[in-house]
Amino acid sequence: MFGYNGKFLGVDLNTGETKSLEMEEGHLKDFIGGSSLAARLIYDHVKPGMDPLSPENPLVFAVGPFTGTTIPMVSRSAVCGISPLTGIWGEATTGGVFPFRLKAAGYDGIFITGRAEKPVYLYINNGKAEIRDASHLWGKDTYQTHQVLKDELKDRGLSVSCIGQGGENLVKYACVVNDRGRVAGRCGLGALMGSKNLKAVAVTGDVKSDVANKDKIDELTKQVREAISSGLMSLVYREYGTLLYMDMGMLLGDVPARYFSRNVFAAKHVTGQALRQAYTVTSHACYGCPVACGRVVKKVGKDAGEVDGPEFETAVAFGPLCVNYDLDSIVEANHLCNAHGIDTISAGVSIAYAMQLYEQGILDEKKAGMKLEWGDGGAIVKLVEKIIGREGIGELLGEGTRRMAEELGADPTTAAHVKGLEMPMHDARAYTGMAISYATGPRGACHLKGDYYNIDMTGSVPELDIVSGDRFKSEGKAALAAKYQNYRDMYDSLLLCKFSSISLTQIAEILSGITGWDYTPLDINTVGERSINLKRAISNRLGITREDDKLPDVCTAALKEGGTADRSPDMDVLLREYYDYRKWDWATGKPTKEKLLELGLEDAARDLWSD
Ligand code: SF4
Repeated sequence: MFGYNGKFLGVDLNTGETKSLEMEEGHLKDFIGGSSLAARLIYDHVKPGMDPLSPENPLVFAVGPFTGTTIPMVSRSAVCGISPLTGIWGEATTGGVFPFRLKAAGYDGIFITGRAEKPVYLYINNGKAEIRDASHLWGKDTYQTHQVLKDELKDRGLSVSCIGQGGENLVKYACVVNDRGRVAGRCGLGALMGSKNLKAVAVTGDVKSDVANKDKIDELTKQVREAISSGLMSLVYREYGTLLYMDMGMLLGDVPARYFSRNVFAAKHVTGQALRQAYTVTSHACYGCPVACGRVVKKVGKDAGEVDGPEFETAVAFGPLCVNYDLDSIVEANHLCNAHGIDTISAGVSIAYAMQLYEQGILDEKKAGMKLEWGDGGAIVKLVEKIIGREGIGELLGEGTRRMAEELGADPTTAAHVKGLEMPMHDARAYTGMAISYATGPRGACHLKGDYYNIDMTGSVPELDIVSGDRFKSEGKAALAAKYQNYRDMYDSLLLCKFSSISLTQIAEILSGITGWDYTPLDINTVGERSINLKRAISNRLGITREDDKLPDVCTAALKEGGTADRSPDMDVLLREYYDYRKWDWATGKPTKEKLLELGLEDAARDLWSD
């Protein structure tokens, strides 16, 4: 098989056994890799009502056929499982060196079940796997864990993916962190890893998976590398990272402030330029990437030194969303989240919600144990520490906004989440394509499979007839957004960075050249559609219905000013069109039997429609 190692590492932490799991060629052709293949593997283990923190819930790391090749921007991996935060399908992707090293260690992924009796880590070296004692690592942060393992294993090529105290303490949105600050952030998969007593996965090796057509891949590598390196966006990303969108996004009304109740704010204090003026900033790249969108900033004061700088989502979540324009506190909060492994989006939204409830008197100083005033950067940092330690009010904030509303008796439509996953930092009022993507995204409110703002600004996918349109129009948008979700889902299967400018036609050529199997752009869209429907079927089996495909009022109620003044997406129009396009059943929210069978998902058709 070209482009694959052809096997996953199976790990049973109950018994301490490891074994090779050979991949079926049909599954690779139909699901490609990454999060789609992980969904295929996890599907058989899903049981209605299962506790996401139970040992039976598999944790899957997966790479794809692009990983480890010469194509740029492909050192990415997916981490998947049933989410401890949402209770439904969960996935997150990350970059760095770890994905490249995992493939070079001899596997296309790792499938982990069970729970170890005491903390362990997994060491994989050129196809050989060992479960080792990690008692000395438990309690260490993600940077320390990485360093200790590198020193201990005396391997400069070693790459480590691990949890911090957030995952150890089962914070519901704990994340998995690799290579010093590269994060698989969303859905709480760090808590799943923590529940298994698995502190880290350390990988090394030099296994090469061959490509079918080397000349073709060499030529395509040259083509896309030149285009990416000389592209204007690459230059701007290198200089300012994703923060480059802050002021333009604010003008468009696309950046939420004061817990989604405002969209006009002093953006100049939290832009990429502001970060550069306040700190010495250098850029940081994933393995083999010519763009280098990552930020490294020199921090002074407590724990002085170089730390990962905040990217756009983080800077908004701890910044304008909390009415906070103090960059030092944003940098510090981001650093704490990366060091101790919790998701910056869910943490920032939960803190902003707490500030809102405090202002409304629903959460008082006695219950919070502290004042929670808007814009108090010191309070934000303190709350992040409390969330990580599950201490005081941090225990509740670490459960996310849905649980906060339930516990505090707040109006549930004020909790900014979809299906339990906190809303990202693109405003649903600014693009109807984002609104429908948030409502229907496979993991809940997801800006990465449904980054439709990129289309309605100037983007297009000509091969799928997806073109830029009126960003406020609800009619005619949902079918395009659904197709775009299919397309973006494939990035997490191949795996390919979403900042890359490689066209769908080139993606199909690259995939065909690597695997030796013929894919057209439309085939790739079908694989994406299959993946989205299988993930939906998993969530349906865990209780999701159409009633869950909704946005909270706090994120859709029209605002009075700014780039979205008096605008609100028409969710009924969007949802009906979406269901119609997807061929999902309006009464139940499940993909129809016909659609599942058309996509070759016979088992899902049987399980969802057995009566
Ligand atoms: S653009 Fe950024 S996230 Fe994407 S591969 Fe490059 S460094 Fe990694």
